[in-house]
Amino acid sequence: MDEDEHTSGTQGGNDSSEAATDNDAAGTESDPTSEDSTENNESTDGSKTSLPTTASSNDSSVSDDPSVSDDPSVSDDISLPDDTTSLESSGRDRSSPDVDLDGVVLDDTDNQGLFDDLLSGEPIFENKEVLRPSYTPHELPHRNDQINRMATILVSALRGETPSNILIYGKTGTGKTASAKFVSQELESTSQKYDVPCEVEYINCEVTDTQYRVLAQLANTFIEKNQTVIADRIERYQQLVSTAADDPSALASTEFSTVAEVESRIEQLEDDADDMEEVPMTGWPTDRVYTTFFDAVDYHERVVVIMLDEIDKLVEKSGDDTLYNLSRMNSELANSRISIMGISNDLKFTDFLDPRVKSSLGEEEIVFPPYDANQLRDILQHRADIAFKRDALTDDVIPLCAAFAAQEHGDARRALDLLRTAGELAERSQAEIVAEKHVRQAQDKIELDRVVEVVRTLPTQSKIVLFAVILLEKNGVHNINTGEVFNIYKRLCEEIDADVLTQRRVTDLISELDMLGIVNAVVVSKGRYGRTKEMGLSVPVEETEAVLLSDSRLGDIENAQPFVQARFDN
Ligand code: ADP
Ligand code: MG
Repeated sequence: MDEDEHTSGTQGGNDSSEAATDNDAAGTESDPTSEDSTENNESTDGSKTSLPTTASSNDSSVSDDPSVSDDPSVSDDISLPDDTTSLESSGRDRSSPDVDLDGVVLDDTDNQGLFDDLLSGEPIFENKEVLRPSYTPHELPHRNDQINRMATILVSALRGETPSNILIYGKTGTGKTASAKFVSQELESTSQKYDVPCEVEYINCEVTDTQYRVLAQLANTFIEKNQTVIADRIERYQQLVSTAADDPSALASTEFSTVAEVESRIEQLEDDADDMEEVPMTGWPTDRVYTTFFDAVDYHERVVVIMLDEIDKLVEKSGDDTLYNLSRMNSELANSRISIMGISNDLKFTDFLDPRVKSSLGEEEIVFPPYDANQLRDILQHRADIAFKRDALTDDVIPLCAAFAAQEHGDARRALDLLRTAGELAERSQAEIVAEKHVRQAQDKIELDRVVEVVRTLPTQSKIVLFAVILLEKNGVHNINTGEVFNIYKRLCEEIDADVLTQRRVTDLISELDMLGIVNAVVVSKGRYGRTKEMGLSVPVEETEAVLLSDSRLGDIENAQPFVQARFDN
């Protein structure tokens, strides 16, 4: 998920939906389950074992007694122990510049600190940030058509006309957010260049997901901008007042005929500034928030493009009122015009819209198709050139990342995640170069992180059903059938005091687990005994169990295991 869309919805801020979806390798490190998960992972093993070794060699070198070490290099430095002892006992820093210990301590290759070892290898990354979702690339290969279409529509804003509303569709990772942000930066910089009042407001509706919040955020952004405009004007008029005091002809080129008029304008501006009241995060009636936004945006002449990213999330959560209100504003605004650019991951979301909203919002539609493996290669290559040191990748790394991500509906975010994670794994195993095996390890790690996340967020009842499957599997049952799952499930529910659902409902929950790719169920016919589902776990047992057990609502489900054991022992 993406980093920057969650932290701030405003344009130029960080895009936080990316953060949420970002399967950041570093971010999951503290998770005990993810550590387990990489147990078979060469790279992780490498760094795990290297740390204790480093620490112990460090210990021996600072030891008071050189004889405790078998290492000849330590006993060579025969003068070291005395010096060290005396320095330590006097509480002084061993690296203190006025003591010439460099020769004895720092040249001792065995005297590696905790981090020295990790730092010692040639760094693989030149600039890792470039591979993170929060980075907005300056070049977007294979999105020229879409970017040009957006620009062709939005250029009206620079002519002071209202651009058509735009609806952008495409699956996740097809470059919608990146392209929209790129276009908005270009639009704003051009508007500054030609000094035309055109502004872009970016809102991530996954974070800002109610009408109140969207309107409040817009209102407050425009209030802030208005305050700046007002402050500038007041300053200009005050200067005019002081110039005109010495030289009355200074008013000639202005709209004012007397200094008093200028002063009264200043007063009026000060009143305007005082009247603008920021919208609190909650508490006002929605129509008051709407009016405040309306007044703020209409305070002076401008064309405003409102980008609603992840617009499907807003509609799903709070309906289409926001879009309805925004789309009919233009007929009432006196000084300003707004244009809406909606961005959706869900191709069918307009089905839920009021027909008026649908036709207004979809005046122009732009589709972002999935990338194919070749396009993903180009995208990765562009980023890799900046992100990695020269020759840090073997030739097959980028094609493999591209191929894996092409299978994931052509998701560029996944491709970049893979490349970054592969680099991190290589770095951690102190490899000199990122190779194909690191990409495969990264693919496993990301996939496992995904599973962990899906399992972690399952409803409690599904977790109990899944736990029943795990218990059966751990007891060596193959082709587990629904009846067996249901029996264990019932016992587990009794054990932890949870409601017991009907076998029918449990069968439904199994189907859901199947759809999520957690179990793999097939319907088998039992002849005249009817049909049943047979299933197996499609995710790693240990890690999945650990995630389930970390849920406090499942209480001491762990203690329920013996009865299952007993059942199979009989
Ligand atoms: P979406 O909004 O469609 O889910 P994003 O715009 O967030 O996708 O793109 C996902 C990631 O892939 C981002 O890091 C983005 O910078 C990168 N990306 C997508 N398309 C391109 C492209 N054509 N060129 C370079 N990077 C891209
Ligand atoms: Mg996006």
